[in-house]
Amino acid sequence: MRINVLGVGFDNVTMAEALARGEELLRSEGAHYVVTPNPEIVEACRADAEAMEAVNGADLVLPDGIGVIYGAKILKTPLKERVPGIEFGTSMIEWCSKNGKSVYFLGAKPGVAEQAAENLKQRFSGLIIAGTHDGYFKDDAEAAGWIRESGADMALICLGAPKQEKFMARYGAETGAKLLLGLGGSLDVFAGVAQRAPEFYVNHNLEWFYRLIKNPSRIGRMMKLPLFLIHAMGAKKN
Ligand code: UDP
Repeated sequence: MRINVLGVGFDNVTMAEALARGEELLRSEGAHYVVTPNPEIVEACRADAEAMEAVNGADLVLPDGIGVIYGAKILKTPLKERVPGIEFGTSMIEWCSKNGKSVYFLGAKPGVAEQAAENLKQRFSGLIIAGTHDGYFKDDAEAAGWIRESGADMALICLGAPKQEKFMARYGAETGAKLLLGLGGSLDVFAGVAQRAPEFYVNHNLEWFYRLIKNPSRIGRMMKLPLFLIHAMGAKKN
């Protein structure tokens, strides 16, 4: 059963449970996709029915970001723990490297996906890269075709939200991949173009603050977090 946080149904799973489910999906027939909404994405879904449908239609909806955990707590339906998308993705890539499954990287600026693939190959020996492409293409159906032709078992779709969620919902099956992961700016981190917050910030649930001081222009996007919490408080009263 999913936990409803302002219309988005989150799977109440630990990281270990999420990984077990991810592996199961990768092994089963058909196309599956995973989304990792943070408060900003939940707010975007509230204003965009297609995005909401794409997110709720995922096979696994993971609570990325401490804001979602707070929101669920405010609503008195707590989630077990935060499951950061990038950590989930990294572990799934490692699993693929150990189990002979190939991975495709779609997204980010030209050159970034290639660099991410290179770095991950160094990190996880045996990792099979099915292919890479930047995220600034015009035709979604064509992009799905690139993944299909590559024969990838798993694909990282990193186009930013809610574009990546809509892509996976609409074209997931056409890619032929068993599992697609919508992972926002993760390719930038894997490529070393962007840094994840140091451990201190992550451990103290201050990753959002680190991202803000590193990139103050995110303030507009970040204001979605207090708005999300206000909406959660409002929903509790009803
Ligand atoms: N991006 C893309 N195609 C687009 C728009 C964005 O590939 O049309 C990429 C962008 O280059 C970045 C990622 O999508 O690598 C989104 O990053 P952001 O930091 O916004 O994602 P977050 O992790 O915060 O959701």
